[in-house]
Amino acid sequence: MLLYIHIPFCDSKCHYCAFNSYTDRFHLKKEYMRALEKQLKNDLKNIDKKIETLFIGGGTPSTIRYEEYTEIFKIIKPYIIDDCEITSECNPNSASKTWLEGMKSLGVNRISFGVQSFNDEKLKKLNRAHNAKGALSAIQNAICIGFNSINCDIIYGVQNDSFELIKEDFDTLFKLKIEHISAYSLTLEEGTKFYNKSEIKIDDEELSYKIFDYLKENGFTQYEISNFAREKDYESKHNYGYWQHKNYLGIGAGAVGCLNNYRYYPKKGIEEYIKNPLDYEIEELSNEDIVVEKVLLGLRCSNGFDKNILNEKQLKRLIELLEEDKLKEISGQIYNKNFLLADELALYILE
Ligand code: SF4
Repeated sequence: MLLYIHIPFCDSKCHYCAFNSYTDRFHLKKEYMRALEKQLKNDLKNIDKKIETLFIGGGTPSTIRYEEYTEIFKIIKPYIIDDCEITSECNPNSASKTWLEGMKSLGVNRISFGVQSFNDEKLKKLNRAHNAKGALSAIQNAICIGFNSINCDIIYGVQNDSFELIKEDFDTLFKLKIEHISAYSLTLEEGTKFYNKSEIKIDDEELSYKIFDYLKENGFTQYEISNFAREKDYESKHNYGYWQHKNYLGIGAGAVGCLNNYRYYPKKGIEEYIKNPLDYEIEELSNEDIVVEKVLLGLRCSNGFDKNILNEKQLKRLIELLEEDKLKEISGQIYNKNFLLADELALYILE
C-alpha cells in the first residue's frame, strides 16, 4: 500500500506546469493542512495492509513549514512499515536548512528537488522561483544534513537546449554524487503558458538517446522512461509501486487514490476540498482498463508485465513483437528494450 499526499501551493507558476497548484491561496494553508489530516484519518481506517511508501508531492511541499507536518506524521505512524520510504518533493528557494532538518527529524528519508536546470536563463524562461546558486546550496544543505537518497529533476527539450547544456547540468549532479535523477522531456500541456507555443519545445529523439547514454556511462541505470538511479536501492519504491499497480491512497486536493478496482478523486479546488475533504468522485475500473494500465506502465519501466493478462489477439501481436526482437520474455514476464517506444509498443499490443 502506497500513500500520496498533495500540497497544492507554489511560489510561482512554471510556464509548463499543469499540476494542481496555486500561487494565490497561501492564506488557506492552515485550513488545508487540517483538511488533509481529516481525510488521512478517514482513509487510513479502510486499509488492510501497512503503508510501504509515503510521497509528499505537489505543488511545493516546502511552501509549508515543517512544523505543520507534525500531526500528519503522528497520524500515519501506526500504519507505516519500519523501513517505510518517505519522500518529500521540495523546491530550492523554499527548502531552507531548517525545513530540511525539520522534515528529516519527522521521518523523511528521501528528498526530491525540482532543480530542472543549473542555467539561470533557462530557469527564467521556465518561470522557476529559484536560480542555479540557490539550487546548489539547497542540495549541499541536504547532503550536509545527512540525506543519502536525493533525487533531482532535470527538464530537457526546451528551446535553445543542446546536449552540451544538459550535460553541464548532469555533470554538476555527478560532482554532488546525487543518487537519483529524473530527466524529463518538456511536454506542452493544455492550460499552461507554453501550450500553443510549439517553438518552445525541441522534439529531438537523438537528444533523448544521447542523454540516456550519458547517464549510463556515468553509472546511472534507467529503470523507467524518465528515471535513473545509481543503484537499485536508490530507485523510487513509491513510483515503482504505481508501475506495479499496487493500491494507493491519494490525500489532498486533486490527488488520486486507487483501491483494487476503484479509483477515487477528492475535490480539486482548495476551497472545495477544505469544505469537505471526504467528498470523492469514484470511478470503477473494468478488467480491460486494468490490463491497458498494466501493459502501458509495465513497458515504460523495467518491471514489465505478465503476458498471461493478455487475450488471444493481444498475445498474437505480442508474439510478433517478440519475434522482431522489440521485447523480451523471461519466465512469462515481458520486458521492454527501449522505453522511448513504450507507448507505441503498448498501443500495438492493445489495439
Ligand atoms: S513548482 Fe512544480 S508544481 Fe509548482 S508550478 Fe512549478 S512545476 Fe508546477
